[in-house]
Amino acid sequence: MQKEKVIVVGAGLGGIALAIALLQKGFQVEIYEQAPALGEIGAGIQVSPNACRVLTSLGAFDEVKALSASPTEYRFRLFENGETLQTIPLGDNFLGRHGFPYLTIHRADLHRALTNRLMSIAPDAMRLNAKAIRFEETHDGVSVEFEGGHTAKGDLLVGADGIKSIVRKQVLGSTSATYTGDQAWRVMVDAKLLPEAYRPKTVDIWVGPGRHAVIYPLRGGEIINFVGLVEDETWEDESWAAKRPWDDLKNDFHGWSDEIQAILEVANRDECYRWALNIRQPMKGWKTQRAVLLGDSAHATLPYMAQGAAMALEDAVVLARALELPRPLAERLDVYEAARFDRTSKVVLESTANRTLFHLPSAEQLREAFRARNVGAERNAWLYSYDATTTPLDAAQTE
Ligand code: FAD
Repeated sequence: MQKEKVIVVGAGLGGIALAIALLQKGFQVEIYEQAPALGEIGAGIQVSPNACRVLTSLGAFDEVKALSASPTEYRFRLFENGETLQTIPLGDNFLGRHGFPYLTIHRADLHRALTNRLMSIAPDAMRLNAKAIRFEETHDGVSVEFEGGHTAKGDLLVGADGIKSIVRKQVLGSTSATYTGDQAWRVMVDAKLLPEAYRPKTVDIWVGPGRHAVIYPLRGGEIINFVGLVEDETWEDESWAAKRPWDDLKNDFHGWSDEIQAILEVANRDECYRWALNIRQPMKGWKTQRAVLLGDSAHATLPYMAQGAAMALEDAVVLARALELPRPLAERLDVYEAARFDRTSKVVLESTANRTLFHLPSAEQLREAFRARNVGAERNAWLYSYDATTTPLDAAQTE
């Protein structure tokens, strides 16, 4: 039997991963991206073992690993003096425990590695400059309309079109994303400009009243990625991401340790961006008869577990596996959602809980909370040891 034709809208990390996973299984795939050129923002991303496992199954892991840094540990540090509140060993310890490493990489490098892999399998699968505006489904197919009047027809539509998803709007109605009250500064630092002692080999989470900062190495340590997460109830800019003055960034971390000041002092002052962070509360119903959501369009989260892209990658592999089942399409989509809903909801809820923990109002409360926090291996096993390539699909629906 000929496998179905799948139209994927959105060539972010989730959409490209899905296109590869489907092509590997013999589906026909067309992937449409609104941007005129492929690329990613200038920022880093953490790639945990569960995501590395997916990248391996997609045939992209070796290229990703070659472009990544391998931090030795996770360190939680106190805003005012850098005191270490807690460490979680990464490196070989993590590799042994979860089967894959914990990496950090420039988003553009990760995106390129996935795109290269896609192009090596299906050089013509991708269409750029194609902004989907609506879709229509019938009993025997789905048709997607793009700005400019072009349409694409297939058997299934996957909305991998991110947090502002137009596919979601049609699948679930107008459920707008909620502004969390937090904004994310993203800026790169040339490591050469810093004294050796301030060049992290670790993922450092600096916690403090109403804000935290995440700092880690990229490209073998040549670049340092700085993300500053700050509470701010107002968001006046229309856009969700805007260039902001470096002085504002400095101000936001006024009074933090000398190390933070030194890093900000040499940050790229012309390229300081600030993002409004939006989420959606977990909500079932990711699909119609012929359209389904994946990644941020289904379950956008605060990035406080560094798992949003990992969840999109896992979704891709699980959806491709579900679509192979000998079942009517609607049932296969149910299997996918059932397999992914609880896990992705847990990530959304735990990420939100981390906001409270990381932003406690005083040094003493932060010390106390981290003393009481269990981050033992068993606590993280559900997250990092998950295998999207073998996780059981809902037994009741697959028998
Ligand atoms: P997106 O990456 O948003 O991609 C959607 C794509 O669809 C885009 O290319 C867009 O142009 C395209 N598109 C949108 N609308 C249309 C349309 N109508 N027609 C055609 N194309 C369209 N996750 C991690 O795993 N690790 C981390 O360390 C991490 N750090 C983060 C730090 C910050 C500050 C933030 C904000 C997020 C972080 N995340 C992290 C989360 C991660 O970035 C997202 O979860 C992930 O990018 C979601 O992937 P996606 O493919 O679902 O959506």
